[in-house]
Amino acid sequence: AKVTRFAPSPTGFLTIGGIYATLISERLAHQSGGVFYLRIEDTDKKREVEGSIGDILQALSYCGIYPDEGPTAAGEEVGEYGPYKQTERASLYHVFIKNLIARGLAYPCFCDADELQQIRDKQQAAKLNPGYYGEWAIHRNLTPEQVEAELATGKPYVIRLKSPGSPDRRIKYNDLIKGEIEMPENEQDIVIMKSDGIPTYHFAHAVDDCLMGTTHVIRGDEWLASVPIHLQLFDMLGFRRPEYGHLAPLMKMDGASKRKFSKRKDPDAAASYYEQEGYPGISITEYLMTLINSNYEEWRMSQPEAPYSEFMIDMNKMNVSGALFDVNKLGDISKDVIALLRADEVFEHTAAWAAAYDTEMEATLLANREYATAVFQIGRALEKPRKDIAKWSDVKDLYAYFFDESFSKSVAAGYDSLLASMPSELAKQIVREYAQTLDLQDDRDSWFGKVKAIGVQLGFAKDAKTYKKNPEQYPGHVGDVAMILRVALTGRTITLDLYDMMHVMGDARVRNRLNQFIG
Ligand code: GLU
Repeated sequence: AKVTRFAPSPTGFLTIGGIYATLISERLAHQSGGVFYLRIEDTDKKREVEGSIGDILQALSYCGIYPDEGPTAAGEEVGEYGPYKQTERASLYHVFIKNLIARGLAYPCFCDADELQQIRDKQQAAKLNPGYYGEWAIHRNLTPEQVEAELATGKPYVIRLKSPGSPDRRIKYNDLIKGEIEMPENEQDIVIMKSDGIPTYHFAHAVDDCLMGTTHVIRGDEWLASVPIHLQLFDMLGFRRPEYGHLAPLMKMDGASKRKFSKRKDPDAAASYYEQEGYPGISITEYLMTLINSNYEEWRMSQPEAPYSEFMIDMNKMNVSGALFDVNKLGDISKDVIALLRADEVFEHTAAWAAAYDTEMEATLLANREYATAVFQIGRALEKPRKDIAKWSDVKDLYAYFFDESFSKSVAAGYDSLLASMPSELAKQIVREYAQTLDLQDDRDSWFGKVKAIGVQLGFAKDAKTYKKNPEQYPGHVGDVAMILRVALTGRTITLDLYDMMHVMGDARVRNRLNQFIG
């Protein structure tokens, strides 16, 4: 069984790329019967952004990704390997730091900023790599007496790792995603504890990954360059190394070309953006699954309703270059996902979304619960369910005409496009005649028979073919008659099926709308 983790720093919102990496980690653990946990890497207080932890937890629950262990939204923690926030683990880190010092593998460094700058200047003049390493690491070999003397002055100090590495030697490891990787060893005496007693990210993460039992680390490839430091830390601490998989960043379309998401500039980089737009969280994970393994779509076609967790992801089939996160594709997948929901589920989800983001829409829905559910049912009762809703916010545009009793702008626009080809008096006459014969008990055939009869009586051709032969003889054909009724009822030329729609609207609403059209 694998133990994986998501280890964000609370320095901002959770990105869609973060969700991608997290989903892979969660799947790897759970499909092996293992554990997936959340750890907050908050050692860098300067970069911390207020509210980040709440945002991270919210984005995870939006996508239905639940860690087995870690901090919860209620401000508690679950799991026996905590605390799961690094700043609450200082005393644990100190044990390991003392151990390294005792073994001569770490040491206090009293250099101040000026001294470090002088070292860098000299290195630059000599065209050498900058940093604190080898003979440049001037506090590396202080005698115990010298250390005592420095400590006695009360000078601030950091603890550095005494790196045994040399860039002339190379490390090799097998990345779960990128395959064989070779890099120079780390030669820098990196800081493992800052002067305030807080360890650095590198050190804390190694201790935690060991103590929390991590077996597999999946993370963004911006961490690839840190692997030599991380492997060295694991070795020097005497820990077993976890396996690593480094992911290329997700890409987005920008005009005709692909580029990386920018966390600073692209609002759609944030997972919360998709929640606000009204995509169901399950659509996000469903789409990300197709990006994780290309054979997922084939599996999905044979299992349209199975939870994605029944698919076994395969690290050997991962995208090595950055996968494209295409919002159009997300929309298509989301339509498939929503088409599988029952009408009452669509209602509940839409109302819940509207409660947070569109209270006017929420009020309309809640005042019309049964009617709205029946509206959603129209597209679901078909042999092939209608795939029209990609996000809950679409519901307003798609179905507003069912609720729009004021017949305001949208209706006027519909009238206009109709009146362009039809004298308004004739249109009104059709609607008037139809209102007189209206009977919602009619079956589809007798209903259409009535529509046809009204048209023929008013001089319309009996079908499109007849009309095309002699267009100048007729004001239109019976299809146009149905279109006039459609526009009269909805103010739109494109709607759901006219017959089905009228049945959901019911007699009173239909008559009211027809009467308003007649004026
Ligand atoms: N705290 C690091 C981050 O914010 C995690 C790196 C890792 O997963 O090891 O990305």
